[in-house]
Amino acid sequence: MSGIILTGDRPTGKLHVGHFVGSLRQRVALQNSNKFDEIFIMIADAQALTDNADNPGKVRENIIEVALDYLSVGIDPSVSNIFIQSQIPQLTELTFYYMNLVTVSRLQRNPTVKAEIQMRNFETSIPVGFFTYPISQAADITAFKATAVPVGEDQEPMIEQTREIVRKFNSVYGEVLVEPEIVLPDNKACLRLPGTDGKAKMSKSLGNCIYLSDTEADVKTKVMNMFTDPDHLKVTDPGKVDGNPVFTYLDAFCKDEYFAQYCPDYACLDEMKAHYKRGGLGDVKVKKFLLAVLNEELAPIRARRAEYESRLSDVYDILKTGTAVAEKKAAETLAEVKSAMKIDYFENDVILRAYKEKNGR
Ligand code: ATP
Ligand code: MG
Repeated sequence: MSGIILTGDRPTGKLHVGHFVGSLRQRVALQNSNKFDEIFIMIADAQALTDNADNPGKVRENIIEVALDYLSVGIDPSVSNIFIQSQIPQLTELTFYYMNLVTVSRLQRNPTVKAEIQMRNFETSIPVGFFTYPISQAADITAFKATAVPVGEDQEPMIEQTREIVRKFNSVYGEVLVEPEIVLPDNKACLRLPGTDGKAKMSKSLGNCIYLSDTEADVKTKVMNMFTDPDHLKVTDPGKVDGNPVFTYLDAFCKDEYFAQYCPDYACLDEMKAHYKRGGLGDVKVKKFLLAVLNEELAPIRARRAEYESRLSDVYDILKTGTAVAEKKAAETLAEVKSAMKIDYFENDVILRAYKEKNGR
């Protein structure tokens, strides 16, 4: 065994199937691989406040929701520590010191932050905290000395920024921090799952999500109203599968065995796609199949969620315990960082000893 995982999500809403295929499914697989010494999964409430400062109620109410989402997808609290970011002051402290190692122009070049600023219409009123969240993310990752960060593709610039901070810190102060690697899903469709409206990314902020906690009825309404190929008007028309989110979702979720069960006209997804492309296959039939696939995948998640919802005090204890374990680890790293930066003044009277040495006393 070797390696440490750090990853997380913002409690700005319930988690959706984009989170599931982009990151959650991978986390559970890594957790169950037994290849990691420690796993930390963070509910990033402090980061959520960087663009929701005026809505702390939303952030607070979504903490338990996200914890339930984690547990329902199969995060095992006896293996993985689920913790709450704001309760670990060491993360904020690290962020402050890392800020000295990053330039404003470097932050301005971050393509994900650029896109998010545009999406939120911040224009000239960007909160400083939001602008600098890649630095706080570097603090989160390095505090745990994470080697692997399973996240969606949009997080790539953050991991690169973290690696730069690590290299800079280690070259200035000595080898303390560890460079992390991003772990992306192998399946291309999962890198950035589009929204039900066909927009490039399913995102809580865009309201185009199928949530892990949605009921069968919710999922049915959303799937039946999904955007498809706008030029596929009649069943007989040839249709496009590229950029058609119904097929992207099938790419992300479908297994061959579902065809035998729910759509025996085809043996596999390629056959279904070929029929759609040449014409003669209607959207409703494809959507009904997708609905069956999604319900099949969501059924065990719904069942586990209901189980944990019936014992919420256990969920609360899981968060408290995970947060305590995470704080201990972050405190160890912060102590090493402060020592390397020569700001551990009161450790073994270091400040006094250094003064005496310099002045020959
Ligand atoms: P917000 O709109 O508040 O930013 P979000 O839906 O973008 O919310 P985050 O909490 O920012 O969700 O992202 C959490 C994790 O899920 C990240 O690792 C991100 O890369 C991944 N992720 C989010 N949306 C998708 C998606 N549509 N496809 C694949 N991965 C995704
Ligand atoms: Mg996001």
